[in-house]
Amino acid sequence: MKYLIIADIHANLEAFQAVLEDACNHGGFGHVWCLGDVVGYGPDPSACISLLRTLDPACVCGNHDLAAVGKIDTGDFNSEAAGANRWTSGQLSDDDRDFLLRLPNVLVRDDFTLVHGSPRLPLWEYIAHAFTACDNFACFDTRYCLVGHTHVPFVFEQEGISVNEGYMGNGDILKLGGSRLIVNPGGVGQPRDRDPRASYAIYDSEEGALYHYRVAYDIESTQAKMEKEGLPEFLIARIARGV
Ligand code: ZN
Repeated sequence: MKYLIIADIHANLEAFQAVLEDACNHGGFGHVWCLGDVVGYGPDPSACISLLRTLDPACVCGNHDLAAVGKIDTGDFNSEAAGANRWTSGQLSDDDRDFLLRLPNVLVRDDFTLVHGSPRLPLWEYIAHAFTACDNFACFDTRYCLVGHTHVPFVFEQEGISVNEGYMGNGDILKLGGSRLIVNPGGVGQPRDRDPRASYAIYDSEEGALYHYRVAYDIESTQAKMEKEGLPEFLIARIARGV
């Protein structure tokens, strides 16, 4: 079975569609695992939720998803994120809200724990360094953990009492079966590793391998929609720079 692993779509429909098309060109997928932040920042929150729901995903919630439905407050958001959050909130249908409100913090599928931020603090913690990953290996029971939130494709490997870390580039293949891992597929809708292409992964359970991919999408179209909706300039500019 092949599993499409996506995180941080952030209401970017063009990026999301490009990922689905690219994943089909790489042999397709039978299931979707989504690591949260479906909405927030981008111009198409409702359309992204609708498209995601057609895929019947195993999906956890992100901080932006819960902020958009008023379940957490935006006190910890920067002003652009908080502004976009207010706009997002006004775009959601009752059905969209219902979908977001039902998303769990943590899901376990096969050998994988799925969370948005970290297994220790699913909504808020960023796993960006080996020392944070090190603490978090004690916070899940499965062999592997999938996280989003940093929008940077990364793998952390537990080896004895230490943790190795590595950036994942386009086309990298991660062979599973050895050490415990924490893997971040990178962000679909707002990558932050200076590569603006949408980032995702495919797990092939028969091969025991995880493939990481990047795909270009029509950034100008997304930016034009954001402009039209009056979303913050900083957010419009950053998707073209991948920061
Ligand atoms: Zn995010």
